Amino acid sequence: MAQADDNQLKKIISHAKEYGFIFPSSEIYDGLSAVYDYGQNGAELKFNIRDYWWKAMTLLHDNIVGIDAAIFMHPTVWKASGHVDAFNDPMIDNRDSKKRYRADQLIEKYVEKLEDKIEKEAEKAARRFGENFNRELFLSTNPRVLEYRKKVGEVNEKLKQAMGSGDMAALKQLIIDLEIADPESGSRNWTDVRQFNLMFSTEIGSLAEEASKIYLRPETAQGIFVNFLNVQKTGRMKIPFGIAQTGKAFRNEIVARQFIFRMREFEQMEMQFFVKPGEEMKWYAFWKEHRLNWHLALGLGEHNYRFHDHLNLAHYANAACDIQFNFPMGFRELEGIHSRTDFDLKNHEQYSGKKLQYFDPDTNQSYIPYVIETSIGLDRMVMAVLSAAYREEKVTSAEGEDGGERVVLSIPPVLAPVKVAVLPLVKKDGLPEKAQQIVQQLKFSLKCYYEDKDTIGRRYRRQDAIGTPYCVTVDHQTLQDDTVTIRHRDTMKQERVPVTHLEKLLTEACSVNTLLKKLALP
Ligand code: ATP
Repeated sequence: MAQADDNQLKKIISHAKEYGFIFPSSEIYDGLSAVYDYGQNGAELKFNIRDYWWKAMTLLHDNIVGIDAAIFMHPTVWKASGHVDAFNDPMIDNRDSKKRYRADQLIEKYVEKLEDKIEKEAEKAARRFGENFNRELFLSTNPRVLEYRKKVGEVNEKLKQAMGSGDMAALKQLIIDLEIADPESGSRNWTDVRQFNLMFSTEIGSLAEEASKIYLRPETAQGIFVNFLNVQKTGRMKIPFGIAQTGKAFRNEIVARQFIFRMREFEQMEMQFFVKPGEEMKWYAFWKEHRLNWHLALGLGEHNYRFHDHLNLAHYANAACDIQFNFPMGFRELEGIHSRTDFDLKNHEQYSGKKLQYFDPDTNQSYIPYVIETSIGLDRMVMAVLSAAYREEKVTSAEGEDGGERVVLSIPPVLAPVKVAVLPLVKKDGLPEKAQQIVQQLKFSLKCYYEDKDTIGRRYRRQDAIGTPYCVTVDHQTLQDDTVTIRHRDTMKQERVPVTHLEKLLTEACSVNTLLKKLALP
């Protein structure tokens, strides 16, 4: 299973490169670790996801507005937010393999293996007992399962304690006690565990003596917090209201080996929703449901999502969960939904000496609002879409299709980089000119692609590989009755339609508005 998933990830990485989605950064210099560039198709896909998020936030909610804050911020911001002191990951090196790991992740992997063993026991028993199998009863009584569960509980508790108190020696001891070996080399020759701050720093100012250390923001959220009153006052916003933002964030990740899942430079889409203290749980539940619906509306498959509640809450949160997605590596965090209390605004008040309170005109009282945050990685979303969309399948030769295998990206039409390819059946008889005319009509509302090289079957294959949902083919009949065929990517079915219907038909199928309307239904 793990092997197959590894293969799936490798296939997606090489497909993304071959078809202009994602390239390693500075590839001619052998790349830069955990940094990637988006090519012509990747940039369109990313833009479309961002557009869907931005519009779902700012058009569908009249109490949410968007901002665009700078990446550089006053260094005290990161003291107030806790990032200077506490944005650390525990790092451990293996002396033999010279590989570096996150100590907490090594322990989490150990726990995952125990959980896999429990699942295997259950599967084995299910096969043995057939229809009479009572899974719950088995899991709560089988001695071997109980043993594993006890161990999971103990390890999790020790991990939580060590992480909570920042006890690096205890983490190391846990790795030794559990006899955890380097997954690559099998060696247990570990260094001590050290805290490693994930923020990148640089210097601002042209003269050395003027220079002072500043950070590349590790999250976009703080740009929203420091502008909270600016936006509230100038926008005359009344609580509850939200501020949305998309933009780059930077983290010097210790381990970054999973393509665009964990990058050192990445993009976030975050929304902070300001509420009256005491009402945060209601809004937390609201945003959990709302954000899941945003994902489900794309149709990548309900079974690919699940909620994961945080057991170890950060000191500032009173509730937190992730929306996990079924990536090729398994279920992993795609988006976080956090109830952050008044932690950030209160700290900014303290450090800046400026009041950051909301004056409630109904009660004539001022207070620091509580915050619900929804935070999703745009790059992780790109990876989720690519993982769910990638398919290899056998094709029987049919009308215009070459037989054999095809690789198709079933990207939701709204997100697809190219919406329609306009293809003259042959490169003569006036067909190219007619096809060009159609492109000229459609290009204002749809991203089009024109191509007249190779057989029509090969051209379909190339469009399948970049996820183009529709191919419009211009043939000799077109010149007589002004109709074309539309070929649907996923079914490969073709239908004949008048050229005059094309724009309406395709725009409706590919427009973000259609999706937003679906999302807004009660
Ligand atoms: P993880 O536990 O995976 O490191 P996190 O809990 O630190 O993630 P948050 O700080 O909650 O992540 O950031 C919000 C979102 O930003 C995440 O849900 C994820 O989609 C995205 N994100 C965080 N770190 C990275 C990264 N290094 N590369 C790409 N996306 C990231």
